[in-house]
Amino acid sequence: MKTLIVHAHPEPRSLNGALKDLAVTTLRKAGHEVRVSDLYAMGWNAVVDAGDFGSSASSPLLAVADSGRAFDTGTLAPDIRAEQEKLLWADTIIFQFPLWWYTMPAILKGWFDRVFTYHFAYGVGEHSDVKYGERFGEGTLMGRRGLLSVTVGGRESHYAPRGINGPIDDLLFPIQHGILYYPGIDVLPPFVVYNADRIDDEGFPDVAKAWEQRLLTLESAEPIPFRRQNFGDYEIPALELKEGLEPAGRSGFGLHLWS
Ligand code: FAD
Repeated sequence: MKTLIVHAHPEPRSLNGALKDLAVTTLRKAGHEVRVSDLYAMGWNAVVDAGDFGSSASSPLLAVADSGRAFDTGTLAPDIRAEQEKLLWADTIIFQFPLWWYTMPAILKGWFDRVFTYHFAYGVGEHSDVKYGERFGEGTLMGRRGLLSVTVGGRESHYAPRGINGPIDDLLFPIQHGILYYPGIDVLPPFVVYNADRIDDEGFPDVAKAWEQRLLTLESAEPIPFRRQNFGDYEIPALELKEGLEPAGRSGFGLHLWS
């Protein structure tokens, strides 16, 4: 396995830092290759601007078209190209981050904004009345597995189906489905550490053990059963789920799971 870990926490001695380090040592010990993009340590620039597109930047700036042209002509900024190369190298990608305001830290969002460019992560494949691109089950990153490893301040019950924060699967849907599955990554169920601020020396070994178990079963784990866009479940080009395919009583994000 070739694993890329994209890590987003400002403090190396944090819980997130410890989980990232444990992933590196556990996977390497098991014979896997590991590369790490430690975004704070790299001083990752988290904002899209004209500098991303080199000589392909237009005036006025067109973030979609310019990023696609820069991708096609090899004029994307070197830091973006380096991350795209790591993604193509990897067969497994782990994202390690704390939940901040119900989502990922801004530095990681900025990594997706800049690295998942047009013609690389989206705008791929035929776009016509009969096919709306290669995405959601197809795309540049098809064949890879992705996993969110997330620490969360709230208790597990706060993120249960009736919890006040909303179900964790709903909160993570925009990342797991909208960002990772979009360019074809098969998404494994997330590893979530709840009540993270209250973990202490006594609680950490249990968290570490659970994380090691997940890491050592990455190759055999079943991905989240998201429906594929181009294989009959959706009306084209409306991209609405066909009538009658949803299990009884299911609505919202859950519609896009086939089981
Ligand atoms: P740390 O603060 O580094 O550590 C947490 C605990 O683990 C500490 O007690 C520490 O001593 C212990 N620990 C760390 N490393 C080790 C180790 N190696 N061995 C033993 N013990 C260790 N929470 C929500 O639920 N929802 C939100 O929307 C949300 N939004 C937030 C927004 C912001 C801006 C911030 C700052 C926090 C937010 N939180 C939220 C809380 C956040 O999710 C947690 O603070 C975070 O997940 C904890 O992870 P950490 O790596 O920062 O932990």
